[in-house]
Amino acid sequence: MNPTTVPVLPLFWSPAYTATASARETVTKSLHLVEDLERRPVAGVGIVAPTPATIDEVTAVHDAAFVEAVRTGEPRRLAASAGIGWDDRLWDSVTASTGGVRDAVLSAWRTGGIAGSLSSGLHHARAHEGSGYCTFNGLVVAARAALADGAGRVTILDLDAHCGGGTAALTAELAGVDQTDVSVQHYDTYASRSDARLTFADGSDYLDVVAAAMAAVPDPGGIGVLLYNAGMDPHEGAGGVAGITADVLARRERMVFDWAAAYDLPVAFVLAGGYTTGIAMDDLVALHRITVEEAAAAVGRRMSDAA
Ligand SMILES: [Zn+2]
Repeated sequence: MNPTTVPVLPLFWSPAYTATASARETVTKSLHLVEDLERRPVAGVGIVAPTPATIDEVTAVHDAAFVEAVRTGEPRRLAASAGIGWDDRLWDSVTASTGGVRDAVLSAWRTGGIAGSLSSGLHHARAHEGSGYCTFNGLVVAARAALADGAGRVTILDLDAHCGGGTAALTAELAGVDQTDVSVQHYDTYASRSDARLTFADGSDYLDVVAAAMAAVPDPGGIGVLLYNAGMDPHEGAGGVAGITADVLARRERMVFDWAAAYDLPVAFVLAGGYTTGIAMDDLVALHRITVEEAAAAVGRRMSDAA
């Protein structure tokens, strides 16, 4: 990757993402994906270091006492409430990862293109504490930044295996942000509402439910930027359900980027869930790599359409 070339698909990441000693895939897997992309680059994709989220940015979404606990480690129960432990590098890790989401969303919004951040552990985080391996809700931090930059409307498409109940709670009073959420697990469920639309799928109807959920997004042409929580944990070996294979998820990614292209939407994506419960780290990396490859292919189609 040539650092003097501006990538057509910036992937925000820095070594700080994995700074904490936590061994959870939520923290560790991004480095494995970066190493895979270094061995086998995807044309147009370049790694870009993000600006870490500031205390003010995270305090606009989370209670100050919780933010201070994550920064200092005290009180420890609150500092470690995400469930990935606490050490004195957790703050660097989660502010880098959260800043990456914000930078990817702003990049997509300002260029009209596609950008990603190799961030995970976002959508379960609540105002007052972390939850489900999620410390800060970088999706909401990023959405707020895009709104402040004039995006008008940010739509979060959450296809992680689990429900985005943290995001739904944090956006209930936030005008300009709406969510479409297809889950295969009931963890972090919430009452579906017009601006946080939750549906469930299983291994037999997954792509049909995803297609219907996208088709039901109100006024898609009015979306300023689409923020895609591209969890790979629906996969039958990575935390999901039988019948959802790598091939199904590859078709899902193509559907998402085709749907966004149909409305000419800027897209920012993040890794989200995906675990080595039933597959090896290399296989998990291969799943997340599909999102990067499909995003790059979508950028290529946009550029050839524009030429
Ligand atoms: Zn998940």
